[in-house]
Amino acid sequence: MTVDIRTLLIALMINLVTIALALPAVMGRVNVPARHAQWAAALQAGGWVLILLSGLVERGSAVDWMLSSASMACMAVSLALLGAAFDLWCGRRTHDRWLVALAVLMPLGYALGFSNYAFRVGWANGLLALQMILVAVAVGRLPALPVGRWRWLVVASMLAQAVVTLWRGVLGAFFTDAYPRFLTPHPVNHASAVVALATSMLTLVGILLAHRDEAARELERLASLDGLTGVFNRRAWLDLARARFAASLRYGHTMAVLMIDIDHFKQINDAHGHDAGDRALELVAREMQAAARAGDIVGRYGGEEFCVLMAQADDEAARRFDQRLRRRLCEAALGELGFEIGYSAGVSHCRDAGDSLDAMLKRADAALYRAKDAGRARTLDTSFGVLQAA
Ligand code: GH3
Ligand code: MG
Ligand code: MG
Repeated sequence: MTVDIRTLLIALMINLVTIALALPAVMGRVNVPARHAQWAAALQAGGWVLILLSGLVERGSAVDWMLSSASMACMAVSLALLGAAFDLWCGRRTHDRWLVALAVLMPLGYALGFSNYAFRVGWANGLLALQMILVAVAVGRLPALPVGRWRWLVVASMLAQAVVTLWRGVLGAFFTDAYPRFLTPHPVNHASAVVALATSMLTLVGILLAHRDEAARELERLASLDGLTGVFNRRAWLDLARARFAASLRYGHTMAVLMIDIDHFKQINDAHGHDAGDRALELVAREMQAAARAGDIVGRYGGEEFCVLMAQADDEAARRFDQRLRRRLCEAALGELGFEIGYSAGVSHCRDAGDSLDAMLKRADAALYRAKDAGRARTLDTSFGVLQAA
């Protein structure tokens, strides 16, 4: 069976153009990395179309120069965008500057040195191969987020493309007489077309899996947050707090739990409306997060009840948190809501190695209800001593 290079290239063309059109059509509204990947696919398809068109015009003419240089620019920018997309999907905010620099340098050098055939083929393919290797190395590095195995698909795809591209570059630069035109049945042309066909699929699968990975992570994040206030919901707070509690116990660190309940919240709803009540809850959650230290875990425990687990916190640390929160609420509530918000709270500490988070929560809850009974607007510890009064 003989494989006709023209047929392979037509199949590749159909593939790339279909992917470039299908990606934006099926992905819907997307974020930055997905948009980068879509542009990368469009530019790659455009690059191949232009290079094939350049084969149809007079060799070395101005039109050939324009089509070929534009094609090289498309290919190089496509790789830079793809690299940036995968960087973002791996949780990295900083991009490889070399990838961007090469995307500018390569087409520039190609256009300027167009008249020297050996130079332009060696330069363009050499730098494209370098870009592919840079993307493979970046995606192969340990990601900053837990990502799926799709990245190995991308690494394999980039390395395979780098090998055939480098082969082209070396042939063109150093064995120029043996370097075939695009449609000549030569092993390097067959290999390029077959690798491009296979890797276009691999890269597409990589893009879709990376995008799905990200969507799954976002869903997981949203499922752990309270929809109104943005702090952890009760389930997520308990999960995180249990894990933190176990770790702190192991290292012998002190811990405190502060449980707060807004005073007369029903009256706030009744007097100012449910929306104002919602804004009050948002404000309390925001100020709790602002008053918390790094590592403290803030959550909405129930309707108008919030909890914070403070790691490495003694009596004094819990008292200071409560003081900061009361001061912040006092400063913000009247201005932002038009009315004051007060709360009652209970604080409990980890007693000994046999203690548990549930027992700590029970003690904080008992102290909180004592604070309500005692007239509200105060924070009690587990011996029901007043830690703070508003
Ligand atoms: P106390 O001082 O004893 O804590 O009285 P309270 O009125 O704050 O407590 P109560 O438990 O009687 O009422 C809590 C109210 O919180 C009742 C409920 O409608 C309201 N609530 C719970 N969740 C939300 C919410 O998401 N938004 C709003 N606006 N109100 C909520
Ligand atoms: Mg309540
Ligand atoms: Mg209340």
